[in-house]
Amino acid sequence: VFDPAIDGGAWPGPLAERRAVAGEEWVGPMGLLGRLETEVGLGGLGASAIERACALAARLRGRDGWWRASFEADEVGTCERLLRDRDVLVMWGWRGEAVSARLAGLWEATAKALPGVADRLRDVSVALAARAVDVESVRVMSPLTGMAPVWREVFARLGARGTRVEEVVPPAGRAPGDLGLAQATLGAKDPRSRRRFEPAGDGRLTLLRANGPMAAANEVAASLAALKGLEGVVVVGGDEVLDAALVRHGLPRVGGEIAAPASVAIVRLVLEAAFTPMDPADLHALLCLDPGPVPRRVGWGLMNALCQFPGRGATGWCEALVAGLDAVDAERREAVAKRLETLLVAVAPRDGVLAVGEIARRLQAVSVWARGRAEREPSLWATAAMADGVRTMIGVLGVAGMTRVELRRLCDDLESGAGAPGEAGLAHVAQPGAVLAPAETIVWWGFTRDRAPRTQRLRLSAAERAALAAAGVAVPDMGAVMEAEAARWRRPLAMAAGTLVLVCPMTDEGGERCFPHPLWDELTAAMLDVRAAALLEVHALDRPAPAARKKARRRHVPSPALTASAGGPVALRELESPSSLEKLLGCSLAYALHYPAKLRAGLSAGPAAPDPLLYGNIAHHLMELVFAGGALTQAEAIARAEALLDSGLEGLSESLTLPRYQVERTALRQAIVRSAGEIGALLTRTGATVRGVEMKAKGTLAGIPVEGTADLVLSDPDVVLDLKWGKSTYRDKLVDGTALQLAVYAELFRKGKRRPEVAYFALRSQDLFGEHGCTLPGATIPGGHRARDIWQGALINLEQRVAELERGELAAPGAEGEDVKVGLAGGQLVIGPGCTYCELGALCGRRRAP
Ligand code: SF4
Repeated sequence: VFDPAIDGGAWPGPLAERRAVAGEEWVGPMGLLGRLETEVGLGGLGASAIERACALAARLRGRDGWWRASFEADEVGTCERLLRDRDVLVMWGWRGEAVSARLAGLWEATAKALPGVADRLRDVSVALAARAVDVESVRVMSPLTGMAPVWREVFARLGARGTRVEEVVPPAGRAPGDLGLAQATLGAKDPRSRRRFEPAGDGRLTLLRANGPMAAANEVAASLAALKGLEGVVVVGGDEVLDAALVRHGLPRVGGEIAAPASVAIVRLVLEAAFTPMDPADLHALLCLDPGPVPRRVGWGLMNALCQFPGRGATGWCEALVAGLDAVDAERREAVAKRLETLLVAVAPRDGVLAVGEIARRLQAVSVWARGRAEREPSLWATAAMADGVRTMIGVLGVAGMTRVELRRLCDDLESGAGAPGEAGLAHVAQPGAVLAPAETIVWWGFTRDRAPRTQRLRLSAAERAALAAAGVAVPDMGAVMEAEAARWRRPLAMAAGTLVLVCPMTDEGGERCFPHPLWDELTAAMLDVRAAALLEVHALDRPAPAARKKARRRHVPSPALTASAGGPVALRELESPSSLEKLLGCSLAYALHYPAKLRAGLSAGPAAPDPLLYGNIAHHLMELVFAGGALTQAEAIARAEALLDSGLEGLSESLTLPRYQVERTALRQAIVRSAGEIGALLTRTGATVRGVEMKAKGTLAGIPVEGTADLVLSDPDVVLDLKWGKSTYRDKLVDGTALQLAVYAELFRKGKRRPEVAYFALRSQDLFGEHGCTLPGATIPGGHRARDIWQGALINLEQRVAELERGELAAPGAEGEDVKVGLAGGQLVIGPGCTYCELGALCGRRRAP
């Protein structure tokens, strides 16, 4: 039995009502071609489309033709297109007749290409002229007149050699209700005699418009699960989303199309990693892949480093790599280090060419790693096959090197989904046209416009068409091909004997709107009143059976909590810091969870797009390097900052080096250079020397051991500068007297009773903000509070907070979303909770689910 639609299975198939069968096969085009090739002795492995294109590209390099300009822009893409055009023409009987310069050029370019389906069919046809095959009869379920001439020729030769070829019209079902009315209308032989129908919405013909694929899959699976048995149910076009829902409802999987496993992305990411700059989101994805070639112990540290400085040249990245490798078992360490060196180190600029040897080295590393683990993780077989496939294709292409875009393209072409085997118990066919006999219930999964077949486009001029016809070559008639397709996609409608469910969710998995398959347009056009189509659109199914529904018990909505109990005393850490003291005063819940409990946001989100936090990190780091050697003049500081930016910015942040962040990169450069100049000028004007950058100081304050790291500490005069990216928050802190960190620095760096001057330096705007009484040249004094008063004001609350912690009481003053009135008043300091940048809002209740 042959039909163009049944390469992915057919209903009812050879078994039908029987328990066993021999000597009967149901095949589609690829099945029949394979069978005939075997019969006539031409069997063998056929080349894939991408393999043919790569091989053709290697042949065409250096040759001339009308396709040359396209070839130079995209070798593989151009060859795919040339082969597609050639294949269509050959299917329609073209043998290279040079009816125009363009077609002559096409034949010349593709004459020695690896054979495609059209060439293989033609060879079979030629072989059939000389010998018969052991096939008694072929029942062809679609009209021969709708097929390409090469197929008609093959069947004619089969017939001539003694095989009985019969055209069969599949028997249609006749259903009651809406379904029967639609069948009668669309099935009428003469479209002019069609009588329009008026649906009543009886559930026999429905368009399921659930909110998305998962909701649709649940509804379908629940409806099928409510049936007494699955005999007579046929699913069309199932995929992994439907399969997952069927399994959840205790039903057999149908198999069908599945996307390539996620681990296949390793190949693409590893090739991306050879180029710099690499998008840190991709680098992060490579680090967190599970299974992935970067061991968890190493990956975790690298992800952390990436979140601070998203670049592979940053010290944090290198340190994390060394620390991660130290944590790997000694016997594996060397091999892991070698693999990571191969996979993670960039060797070519983003717009450069990667040598074939380097590509092969990386792919080999992936393949070896994947094969070594594939026993435990079967999805890695696909990864290894993909790595080997890319390597083979590059060999076939015969190039010396490839760009990043070319490699991506090759991966796209090779990364295809596969068909998964289904389980017994639920009939499934891939194509709607494969329903070749009546079935009680048909569920057409994926009844969407994007899954409807499209005609291949073949551009021929009117002159070429006329010349082909004059040369005796059939002109490809894509209209007729499409008409035959449309006749086949009506089969589920014609064959449903009881219920037809057409599944078109409102949106696809990406949230884009879904539109129904063109068959729906045919159905609505055949209605007396198009508005009646709304009667057929449903969100839940009554047929084939209503899903069994249970009411879920409502749960309490968690409410914000201003206080919480730790269940026991919470001890301060051995060494606190200025920022931990600020957190403790602002919100002791956040303090307890962040410091003693070490609770952190997960790293699954990866590094954010460049933002003020990143700018601040980079600016801080570079300022430290600029002044690490001591005081500089303005000009010297500017020159040093520029040199450091030139040599180190890409290593610190690959994201900022990407073309799309050009504006941000320029703004950051300017801010860093100007800031270095301003600080250099300040040093010259005050005559101060640099005592230290990122300088630590320890002390016991109010009985609490504290260690702080100041950004820039100057001597004579003694000054502590706290470098910040923005300015408004810190200016406000000086206005309302909540600049606690500055106050703690003043205490930690005091020499006897003499406290240093403390000030904020805003890197983005180069503003200097000092405490009340600040004598630094150019400083703005926004408030009337001195650092020592701020510290004195903090003491009372600090004592109170420590006592609360001892009782296990935690306060979250921002939990209800209200602003806390902050400031230094009456000698007492109230610090606000830092809710804006707090990651714990979901725990205290401030960030409620919408
Ligand atoms: S969101 Fe605000 S109140 Fe809640 S834990 Fe964080 S800092 Fe405290």
